[in-house]
Amino acid sequence: SAVYVRSKGKASQEVGMRSETIHLPATTSQNELLALVDRLNADTAVHGILVQMPLPKHIDPSAVIRRITPEKDVDGFHPVNVGKLLIGERDGFAPCTPAGVQELLLRYGVETAGREAVVVGRSNIVGKPMAALLVQPGRGGDCTVTVCHSRTRSLAEHTRRADILIVAMGRAEVIRGDMIKPGAVVVDVGINRVEDATAPRGYRLVGDVHFESAKEVASLITPVPGGVGPMTIAMLLRNTVRAAHALAA
Ligand code: NDP
Repeated sequence: SAVYVRSKGKASQEVGMRSETIHLPATTSQNELLALVDRLNADTAVHGILVQMPLPKHIDPSAVIRRITPEKDVDGFHPVNVGKLLIGERDGFAPCTPAGVQELLLRYGVETAGREAVVVGRSNIVGKPMAALLVQPGRGGDCTVTVCHSRTRSLAEHTRRADILIVAMGRAEVIRGDMIKPGAVVVDVGINRVEDATAPRGYRLVGDVHFESAKEVASLITPVPGGVGPMTIAMLLRNTVRAAHALAA
């Protein structure tokens, strides 16, 4: 989380946006945190608020997310924004990681209309909103979407049908080349640490996809690190700029 917070702050500064990181002690009460959110909601110099998860156990994350005014919820986790995404209303904020994946597909000219998209993972942060974006009518959407999770039977049978395979499982290198349809577009959202005695820090980062075997089969594939991660931050900046324009209007 600390790494993410730092890179978000740095990216904001790079594009000329003021960013403030408020560190609170782990002993902060839920009421204190809610009071801080209220203050930021009311502050006209602030256009976007995000609360970095995970929170200490004594704080209910959904109470905090619901307290952020939906117009400043640039992470896109408030139920109002989640609902707008599902309905297809475009004035809300889509969560940054799936929005970044969709933007990647668009920028690389990947046709989505009528394609089989398989999303592995059903979290509220990645899998579910990813499916919601891909199934919407219009640009970057119109997919036939399958969502897989830990109770899915025969995962490989689903992944092998995917024209566009999006993996967000949090399981290191589980998706191998033989689980991928030849020519598929593979987007690897996973970021996992695996021990590696030869690496300077004793570990390295890998995705949920086994890159070496998958790249032989896929037509396009994202690397880890460097693929979806930077897109997530870019979408956070985009959402914040949109929030600023909307709040100023
Ligand atoms: P979660 O742990 O919340 O969700 C993982 C999902 O994968 C769950 O829906 C789970 O199913 C499913 N899953 C786990 N094991 C299997 C399995 N063996 N077969 C099928 N499905 C399985 O993780 P997140 O969605 O938050 O994150 C996923 C990954 O993406 C992580 O590695 C995370 O670090 C990374 N991430 C990267 C970001 C970026 O910016 N690049 C941003 C956010 C996340 P079930 O629901 O049944 O438990």
